[in-house]
Amino acid sequence: MKFMKTILSGIQPSGRPHIGNYFGMMKQMIDMQKEALVYALIVDYHALNSIQDAEKMREFTRDVVVDYLALGFDAEKNVLFKQSDVQEHTELAWIFDTITTMPYLMRGHAYKDAEAKGKEVSVGTFNYPMLMAADILLYSPDIIPVGQDQKQHVEFTRDTAEKFNRIYGETFKLPESLVIEDLQTVPGVDGRKMSKSYNNYISLFAEDSEIEEKVMGIVTDSSGERPENVYAIHRLLKSEEELKPIYEENIGSYKKLKEMLIEDLKAFIAPMREKRAAIAGDENRVREVLEKGAERAREVAAQKMQEVKKAIGVI
Ligand code: ADP
Repeated sequence: MKFMKTILSGIQPSGRPHIGNYFGMMKQMIDMQKEALVYALIVDYHALNSIQDAEKMREFTRDVVVDYLALGFDAEKNVLFKQSDVQEHTELAWIFDTITTMPYLMRGHAYKDAEAKGKEVSVGTFNYPMLMAADILLYSPDIIPVGQDQKQHVEFTRDTAEKFNRIYGETFKLPESLVIEDLQTVPGVDGRKMSKSYNNYISLFAEDSEIEEKVMGIVTDSSGERPENVYAIHRLLKSEEELKPIYEENIGSYKKLKEMLIEDLKAFIAPMREKRAAIAGDENRVREVLEKGAERAREVAAQKMQEVKKAIGVI
């Protein structure tokens, strides 16, 4: 049998997926799904750190399933599932907590960012890299496609796997992260990282009116030659060569550049939005996909957990 790589990545059901999620991660998953086994996780227990509203949690979770299907995710061949459906994730996260120190987790940038803003950080946010390590290591994946913002957490996963292997013997395979280098982090309309948690994103399935409003609201810096936040989003849709003359011809006319970006975004989003509309509302399909995904994921996770339990001596 031909060797097939295993790819895994997660998305939080904490709002509508945006173009940063798509280009940073979802696109890679879709592109690789033919020649790899792809695990697409909906990390609802991670999202609990920001979504504490049952109806919203249900709605966003259903939405992510529909979004993946609309993007062409093959849920027959590959595995689309919810983290909360596989209890081994939280179980293994606990075991990782016991081999990880507080100073180590204090280096995590999600924790550092929250602290720098003077927020009271939840224990869940602090420990989040350990749950993420469990999400990944249960399935022995080769590659983790992520945006730049998650690269450090994949490093934490590798460190945790190494540490466990050192203490208890070879148990986990070390995964590699795949970050699209020239993409970096997609900026939101306010210039910060585009994120579901900030109200600064352009939804992947946005209506034309939302695209217009969001793009016109992009914060531009008048000191540079070109509006970097506009350019960074435009660059997702067109090559450097295509954009160079456009941006050179329109130095200083930010409105015109924004209008061109609006047209390109509309053309990119419209077909996906139509496809999504055709399957949205099919609750049975969503339920079936999640049930099947959970069943397949549980089988793999349970097997790995048996190995872990033997290694640590609880069985
Ligand atoms: P969010 O911050 O929007 O809630 P998630 O934590 O659900 O995003 O991340 C899902 C995936 O999308 C991760 O792989 C993450 O690295 C990627 N991602 C999130 N925001 C961006 C961005 N602005 N640019 C590139 N990739 C991103």
